[in-house]
Amino acid sequence: MKYIGAHVSASGGVENAPLNAKEIGANAFALFTKNQRQWVSAPLTAKSIAQFKENCLNGGFDTSYIMPHDSYLINLGNPDEEAIQKSRAAFIDEMQRCEQLGLKMLNFHPGSHLNKISIEQCLDEIAANINLALSKTNGVTAVIENTAGQGSNVGNRFEEIRYIIDRIEDKSRVGVCIDTCHTYSAGYDIVGDYEGVFGEFERVIGLEYLKGIHLNDTKKPLGSRVDRHESLGLGLLGMDFFKRFMQDPRFDNMPIVLETPDESRWVDEIALLHSFE
Ligand SMILES: [Zn+2]
Ligand SMILES: [Zn+2]
Repeated sequence: MKYIGAHVSASGGVENAPLNAKEIGANAFALFTKNQRQWVSAPLTAKSIAQFKENCLNGGFDTSYIMPHDSYLINLGNPDEEAIQKSRAAFIDEMQRCEQLGLKMLNFHPGSHLNKISIEQCLDEIAANINLALSKTNGVTAVIENTAGQGSNVGNRFEEIRYIIDRIEDKSRVGVCIDTCHTYSAGYDIVGDYEGVFGEFERVIGLEYLKGIHLNDTKKPLGSRVDRHESLGLGLLGMDFFKRFMQDPRFDNMPIVLETPDESRWVDEIALLHSFE
């Protein structure tokens, strides 16, 4: 079975996210558990946590299909000592928020080397910071998202994600989220060589680590390394790709999250995807 939703707003409180997800006909969703553009947010209140859990229950959302996303400010591979301390603390706080909400995953972009250190040094730093965050929390899996490789972002190659996973002490608490827009922009031709790319994912990383999907079309060409999402069928992936994806059992039973730019299309996008099943 496919579980599909979108990255919905949590404005006014995390408890609003499941309500917003319900409204678009979702059975999965993503959210920010704090303001994604600020380093520090007020702690979640007991009331907000209880209401979130109640709204999830009433909306029929299983926590296995809720995949929060961390703040865009966090760079777990930051080479600067002062900056990395800020990112470390913020990431641990995000993991703890997930724990408080009873959520099982936190999705994040691995990080950027900022042209100051090598890719390997950056990946080593990211792995060390994931290990640290895992040691300070319980029950939340760190879900690494593949990137388009824009700027100095790492994690655009499957091998780089594998490199991080190899250095994680508790392999049961690390996973991967595939973003279809990023995959294509990074140079993996999921349109012309669908089987080849996902076969490569299986060989290099392994399906056992796949915990979720960001399902986006893309405005930018294959290998452009530019991250610009597009609504389904309006970009370079095209609707045939999404049909094939929906019929692929490898993507059953995990959150499939739209991060497509036109929120007014989410209801129709979700319904259309289910019609391809
Ligand atoms: Zn994404
Ligand atoms: Zn993106």
